[in-house]
Amino acid sequence: MSNLPVLYITLTLLFSGFIIFAFIQSIYKYIRMPQRDTLSLLVFNSIALIYIFSDALALFFIFIRPADAAMRFFAVLKETGLLFFLIAVPFFLDKVLELTAKIKKINWIVFWTGLVSAVIIGSCIIFSPDIIKTAADYKTNSNYLSFFHQLNTGLPIMIRNIILTIYLMYTISLILFLKIRKKYLYPVNNVLIGLSILFYIVMAYFYSVLFTDTQIGFGGIQYPPFTIGIVLLILFINFGSIDISIIYSNQLINIQNDIDHKIYFDALLDIPNRMGFMIDLQSELDNIGADGHNFSLIFLDIDDFKNLNECFGEQTGNEILRMLSKRLKEYFSNEGTLYRIGGDEFVLLLKNNKTEEEVKNLAGKIIGSLRNSFTISEVPYTVTASLGILEIPKDGRDTEAIINNAYNVIRSAKKTKNTFTVFNHELTDNSSNKINIVNLLRRSIDRDQFTLFYQPIVDRNKNIIHLESLLRCTNPDPSIGGPGVFIPIIEEAGLINDVDNMVIRKAFHDMEMRIGKRFSISINLSVNQLTNPAYSNFLSSFVKQHGIEPQQIIFEITESKLIENMSAGRENLLKLKNRGFSIAIDDFGKGFSSLTYLAELPVDILKMDMVFVHSVPGDSRKEAMARYILEMAHSLKLKVVAEGFELQEQFDFFKQHGCDLFQGYYFARPMPLDKLLAQYPD
Ligand code: C2E
Ligand code: MG
Ligand code: MG
Repeated sequence: MSNLPVLYITLTLLFSGFIIFAFIQSIYKYIRMPQRDTLSLLVFNSIALIYIFSDALALFFIFIRPADAAMRFFAVLKETGLLFFLIAVPFFLDKVLELTAKIKKINWIVFWTGLVSAVIIGSCIIFSPDIIKTAADYKTNSNYLSFFHQLNTGLPIMIRNIILTIYLMYTISLILFLKIRKKYLYPVNNVLIGLSILFYIVMAYFYSVLFTDTQIGFGGIQYPPFTIGIVLLILFINFGSIDISIIYSNQLINIQNDIDHKIYFDALLDIPNRMGFMIDLQSELDNIGADGHNFSLIFLDIDDFKNLNECFGEQTGNEILRMLSKRLKEYFSNEGTLYRIGGDEFVLLLKNNKTEEEVKNLAGKIIGSLRNSFTISEVPYTVTASLGILEIPKDGRDTEAIINNAYNVIRSAKKTKNTFTVFNHELTDNSSNKINIVNLLRRSIDRDQFTLFYQPIVDRNKNIIHLESLLRCTNPDPSIGGPGVFIPIIEEAGLINDVDNMVIRKAFHDMEMRIGKRFSISINLSVNQLTNPAYSNFLSSFVKQHGIEPQQIIFEITESKLIENMSAGRENLLKLKNRGFSIAIDDFGKGFSSLTYLAELPVDILKMDMVFVHSVPGDSRKEAMARYILEMAHSLKLKVVAEGFELQEQFDFFKQHGCDLFQGYYFARPMPLDKLLAQYPD
């Protein structure tokens, strides 16, 4: 035993440990990612494992439990294993490098040639006289080293090593070639280092066998054992695969970050978007527990952003959004996180628990921060915003409720604009009520549960000049209310076109069948249809169908709505007027908007709002304004209808100041046509 190559055996055992480790690791990798590069690494490591183990077992059966047959078997396995192992390298490279079709072909040829020669050499070794000598011989000679020496210097092993060298050179040049052309995905430097070390060891073998005949050196063998080279190669290849896992995982992390950024960030403003807000909101909500954690949200909606976009173009709109979000971020980022949750909708999620007073204060500051205009190409643009404040969890415990409540509170803030509103639960009650009413109205439209009432409009002698048609819903549900209530709801729900068409149909039918030439009628139209250029064509062919003169029809359009859609409105009014219809501006003076636009509009009649009539007697300021409106209208050659007469003295006052026509309960209430025709027979 004293002659045992202890160092050699120790190293072999150590190497076996490495290889086992690498083998287990490659199994794990293959299970996690069953693809061709992990599979080839596994094959590669398995061959290495066989090689190292056969080396260890050959030693075992020579020195510890001498057994001829076993020793021979493992010795042969080891020596041919080395060849198989080398053949496996091009195979491995084929799987992990991007080879061209030509190189792939060469690789296959090399692979098969290697395989065939390995089989031939293997057979030669088996019948080699060196191996056939029994282990016992060596042991008694105490010259175990000569076994290895003779084995290694024997002809078959010599030939094998020459093939080995050719393979090594081929593989190294293949890698160098791909490296130059940068055609590799695998970190080939590692493989290259491993192969070079192995190449050095093989060369050392040739040197030792050819040029020296002494047996000094490592373990009695002058050159380092091939096993060292193989182990190092295996280690380097495995390092490579660790590198590649790191590269892959870094790439994956980058891709993931990229995707996250795309999904959760707004591309235009580079702040988190609605999705990002939902996720953060949810995680804040998850933190709400027994510890009394609470937080506040300030929702912000830019006032009339749609108009701004339409007037100045989307590009200016976008630029304003960008500048606005930048300003808000600059001023308020230490208060919380800003998100863009819709076109012109933002939300600030406040970081720390704040009192309602503090949040209101902050909302005021946000409104104040918009006072300075945004300058784009030297043009200043001023925007205002409506804000809504929600205290969580008081004002909502889940994302859906919070978003719903946010819209309610914003809607309420929008009524005044440029202000903030603190959420309260009455707002939701109103809005759910509204949804019910909308559904009710929708059903009423489908079932045609509407009728027209008519109210006379009289001259100073109380003679009926024309009738105003006023819509009534016949659905008995009291929540629907009168047209002053349901028309705005219908407009908001986007159903107004259906209603306008229905009104036109009913009014024209009444004209044709019942009213005839007796009265002209005044029909209320929503401004929606007015911005539709095709509508005037439709109306003029529709009157013809019903045999009605356009001169018998007046269309009433509410002043405030008309001003909001001035340019389109004016054009279409002109078309209607050119076709013979008359136009009345309804509820004039209610909003005190500019009076000057009247001169530009093709209008025939001005319907003064009820507030002026009701101001008589007593409100001298309004009386003066009524006089002024009458005077101005007459100077523009417009007829004035005043509405809402309930008292004799109101009639007297307006008569005295030259009002042309009068409408009100004092003369007659709106009533069904039957009743009206019976009350005022021909
Ligand atoms: P409007 O066009 O200004 O109609 C006049 C309103 O004043 C009518 O209310 C009428 O009933 C009411 N009124 C008339 N005389 C008096 C009076 O002496 N005192 C008082 N307190 N009120 C008086 P109504 O019918 O409730 O209609 C309200 C509004 O609904 C209308 O205002 C009009 O803007 C809209 N509307 C009514 N019918 C239609 C329609 O067919 N289409 C459209 N788009 N809107 C309509
Ligand atoms: Mg009217
Ligand atoms: Mg009116």
